[in-house]
Amino acid sequence: MAEGRGRRTPRITTAEVVRTERVTPHLIRVVLGGEGLDGFDCGDCTDHYLKLQFPVEGVAYPEPFDLARIREELPREQWPVTRTYTVRRWDKAARELWIDFVYHGDEGVAGPWAAKVRPGTLVRFAGPGGAYAPSADADWHLLAGDESALPAIAASVERLAPGARAHVFLEVEGPEEEQQLKSVGDVTVTWLHRDGARVGERLCAAVRAFAFPPGDVQAFVHGEAGFVRDLRRLLRFERGIPRERLSVSGYWRQGLNEDGWQSTKAEWRKVDEEDEARAGTR
Ligand SMILES: Cc1cc2nc3c(=O)[nH]c(=O)nc-3n(C[C@H](O)[C@H](O)[C@H](O)COP(=O)(O)OP(=O)(O)OC[C@H]3O[C@@H](n4cnc5c(N)ncnc54)[C@H](O)[C@@H]3O)c2cc1C
Repeated sequence: MAEGRGRRTPRITTAEVVRTERVTPHLIRVVLGGEGLDGFDCGDCTDHYLKLQFPVEGVAYPEPFDLARIREELPREQWPVTRTYTVRRWDKAARELWIDFVYHGDEGVAGPWAAKVRPGTLVRFAGPGGAYAPSADADWHLLAGDESALPAIAASVERLAPGARAHVFLEVEGPEEEQQLKSVGDVTVTWLHRDGARVGERLCAAVRAFAFPPGDVQAFVHGEAGFVRDLRRLLRFERGIPRERLSVSGYWRQGLNEDGWQSTKAEWRKVDEEDEARAGTR
């Protein structure tokens, strides 16, 4: 799903908003449907994500919507704005695709869009991509994140095998943002309330203080990039979890919009590699 002139242009699916729902005061579920989803499908991952394409106001795009043509013919500032969102649920039989948007205020594109979108609106996206699913051969699972990772974590615990052990740490603003997670696994959920503290502060403290059960752990840690890095260091170098047992990445970065965050991601990855080199693990 590379972006930019001269690079591979992703295939675009066009779906339609069927309904929206306030799951919690700051989490808005947008349910997509329509014939455009007939050819859509997800694989086995539980963190599938889509690259939503938001039109720039006042720009008329060629029909049929064709990203390659748009990128060829329109100046960069008129290209649709890309925002990345998890597939909270894909119900093929009902042809329904759920996406849960954090409403983080009036700033940005996707959050404010979700707060005012109405049924019938067309939504275009590339994907799905995906990289994680709970592995059946792990002794236990650790899943940690903020509101942006809650859709992927909820989808992941729903997929656990009966009795599979998981410890879930979720940091949200307050008790009103908690959700009921469904699972047939043996899941312990710890909710952390930010209550105005720095994003990730309470989450990191809770994971650090947690007495890890013995055995082979597989970990999924996502959310704001700053705390994700702190947790990566803790899990990788203090707890010694092998790289291949970690799914860890920043979903967003405080103070940057998604374009800004994506354009600095390579730099961030370089620091992770430097951490690995310092620890002598390469
Ligand atoms: C693989 C992947 C899956 C993701 N899945 C989801 C998902 O299912 N649901 C979801 O809500 N997000 C998800 N995200 C995060 C989402 O892509 C970003 O939060 C994105 O920046 C939101 O776009 P926006 O247009 O609302 O805000 P932007 O225009 O990107 O940013 C505007 C401002 O808001 C801040 N901001 C952005 N996100 C948040 C937030 N969550 N809380 C507080 N401040 C924020 C930015 O730092 C910036 O200052 C995912 C990201 C990735 C990479």
